Amino acid sequence: MLDNVRIVLVNTSDCRNIGSAARAMKTMGLKSLVLVDPKEMPNGQAQALAAGATDVLANAKVVSTMKEAIEDCGLVVGTSARSRTLPWPMLDPRGCGKQMTIEGKEYPVALVFGRESSGLTNDELQLCHYHVAIPANPEYSSLNLAMAVQTLSYEIRMNFLEDEQAQYNKQDKSETTDSDVEDGESKYQLVEETERFYDHFESAMQGTGFIQPKHPGIIMTKVRRLFNRARPDGKELKMLRGILASVDKAVKNSK
Ligand code: SAH
Repeated sequence: MLDNVRIVLVNTSDCRNIGSAARAMKTMGLKSLVLVDPKEMPNGQAQALAAGATDVLANAKVVSTMKEAIEDCGLVVGTSARSRTLPWPMLDPRGCGKQMTIEGKEYPVALVFGRESSGLTNDELQLCHYHVAIPANPEYSSLNLAMAVQTLSYEIRMNFLEDEQAQYNKQDKSETTDSDVEDGESKYQLVEETERFYDHFESAMQGTGFIQPKHPGIIMTKVRRLFNRARPDGKELKMLRGILASVDKAVKNSK
């Protein structure tokens, strides 16, 4: 399960933070690191700070956009030191560790960290199912990037260990009841498929005139928030795509 947890660092300016983040990850048993358009590629200084975790650094994947980093993930949690103007479903660090442990058994899950100077952009935050904030001192809530990685990775590990212990106890008692998280089938859709739905939704609504391409407003943001909260499964997404296709057809026939 820990191998399914991906730490994504977006547009990091100081590569020493990447080295420290790699170390933080490895101490907690995580190894999948993705760098989105780093301003500085990891160098000797990053390696020095990674210490015994240079393997995590060496295996880090570099991509150019956050979308590329998460498209094969079923769960994406974005981190933020402060609350934004647009409220989004929130997890606390413990809840985040739990959700990642549950879903990480089935597919890749991503925890996304922002720039040292300005965090994640609103567009990047809107690619996430949840946001997580470490409830730090309200008067000074911004942790160093690698320390935020350490704190949230620790919570994942704690949940992972608790889960392992629970499995062990269950075996020990030869219990047969299913855990509430394992139903064998993956319920949630991967980001890639959901993104296709959003693209279709936007183009269909442009077709009806509900969204004006020149003045789109924040309709798509609200739509994303709604569906990221609802997290439609495969069948539901297929039905929604069918509805959109019927809208496309009606618009076309009316022209
Ligand atoms: N000035 C930025 C803070 C950037 S700190 C801002 O206001 O958003 C760099 C990154 O560390 C953040 O993007 C986030 O990924 C992480 N981080 C720092 N403090 C955090 C906190 N209290 N909770 C969650 N993540 C935090």
